Amino acid sequence: MSDLHSTLTGIGVSAGVAVGPLVIVNPPPTPPADEAPTTDAAAASTQVRDTLKAVADGLLAKAANADAHAKPILEAGAMMAGDPGLAGAIDTQLQTGKGITRAVSDAVDEYCAMFESLGGYMAERVTDLRDVRDRTVARLLGKPEPGVPTLTAPSVLAAIDLAPAETATLSTETCLGIITSAGGPTSHTAILAAQLGIPAIVQAAGILDVPFGTSVALDGGVGEIIVDPSDEEKQSLQDRKARREKALAAGSGKGTTKDGHPIQLLANIGTAADAHKAAAMDVEGVGLFRSEFLFLDRDTAPTVDEQTATYTEVLEAFGDRKVVVRTLDAGADKPLAFADLGEEENPALGRRGIRLSAVRTDLLDDQLQALYNAWKATNGNLWVMAPMIATRQEAAWFAERVRAIGLPKVGVMIEVPAAALRSFDVLSEVDFASLGTNDLGQYTMAADRMQGELSVLLDRWQPALLDIIYYACDGGAKTGHPVGVCGEAGGDPLLALVLAGLGVSSLSMAASKVRAVRTALALHDLPQCQQMAAAARASVGPQEAREVVLSMADPIMRDLL
Ligand code: PEP
Ligand code: MG
Repeated sequence: MSDLHSTLTGIGVSAGVAVGPLVIVNPPPTPPADEAPTTDAAAASTQVRDTLKAVADGLLAKAANADAHAKPILEAGAMMAGDPGLAGAIDTQLQTGKGITRAVSDAVDEYCAMFESLGGYMAERVTDLRDVRDRTVARLLGKPEPGVPTLTAPSVLAAIDLAPAETATLSTETCLGIITSAGGPTSHTAILAAQLGIPAIVQAAGILDVPFGTSVALDGGVGEIIVDPSDEEKQSLQDRKARREKALAAGSGKGTTKDGHPIQLLANIGTAADAHKAAAMDVEGVGLFRSEFLFLDRDTAPTVDEQTATYTEVLEAFGDRKVVVRTLDAGADKPLAFADLGEEENPALGRRGIRLSAVRTDLLDDQLQALYNAWKATNGNLWVMAPMIATRQEAAWFAERVRAIGLPKVGVMIEVPAAALRSFDVLSEVDFASLGTNDLGQYTMAADRMQGELSVLLDRWQPALLDIIYYACDGGAKTGHPVGVCGEAGGDPLLALVLAGLGVSSLSMAASKVRAVRTALALHDLPQCQQMAAAARASVGPQEAREVVLSMADPIMRDLL
């Protein structure tokens, strides 16, 4: 066995097995401390301008092959790199005699500070500027540009973390798997990897120390990585994959437990392209359309007509299958350039989601109008829900607006503990609820979902989270209104059994996860699920909860994870 051979563990966030050479995403370079000062400012200025031009060209080349979501981000970066004001600011720094990369870095920092003080759209561009800085500094140092390199052969990608925009540009043909040393299980990067069906593991300490090109095998279901695997290990992973495929091939159609209790299996989507992909798969509809993905990275809100066209496309793709659209959930990790209410100390606890809609009713009303137009045009099975509802009053306010416009079904997300604890009140105002377990976990445990280091607290098996879900379902049962799940918890086949036992009526997830959840439900009857739910809630911690449920489950479940 080679010196490199070892096993690393992390948190599996997208199931599946992959074996391939490791490609490490280069971290951003920093100006060297011993950099020579600039003695010929004119020559250095020419070199910087040439480099900025090369960076802009590189970004435009990437944009040409990117999808609708990533394209504007890359184009914005290219525009920044071509900004004569930036080149001028770097010249000023060079004239003080600073080293060339230090001059670039300091000029960009000054530019960023200015943009941030302007707020709004300009502040949003700071990320693009920093990206331009890192690419420019890398080129000046003769190093590879940071970020995802163009993959020429099927590879496993490793990084500290990936930005959602980077993840969105990955192709499943060349990216066999994703491993990050940081990142959290409910970060939007993990969500996108699952959406793409790429096996992925986050929080894998040590992965960045593995040399470039080393063969690695990963199992995104259990979160295990074998570095430089032996032939037997590769074979055993392939056998596991074959067993998983065999177990998954058995089921199709609607989700039900073994004794026939229905649990709808739905897809999470973010774009019209996702909708077409998911509609072609064996799913019962859409449980969460993250509509804010239409609004991000734009400097103006999409018009009613633009939105109507997108919603019509999505509803048409699903025919009479249900489509749950969540109204704009902006703020915190999804800031909107054109609906910025100013800086906040704690954006995740600030005016985000419905709280933003309450101030920018124009944005909400345009969206509801577009949804109404699309519904009328298609006669689709449209359900509309609001994000971040905390109180009965908020639910009533939203429901009144949706009903006034004439839309048929109105619901709320339950992702704030207050709404879960008072779910009877909240559900009395609306037709349905969907549990956003990602935020519900974050707010129940007071642990930032973006913070990978807090992943134990953010574990979806935390008994406190299960208790909160229990209370939410109780309100659903008492009002007779359905309560589903659309957070990442819904796509975990073992936890799906617990959620069914707690009383949820639908599970929505990345479409690639539906098969495993369907199979898990079909192997167990409802009383078994209820016993599992009770055992998980009686556990002292997330690991114990998961283990006790696994011990109660059909042995085939081990192959499904
Ligand atoms: C959630 O919070 O669980 C959810 C589904 O919404 P998002 O992940 O988009 O915040
Ligand atoms: Mg949420």
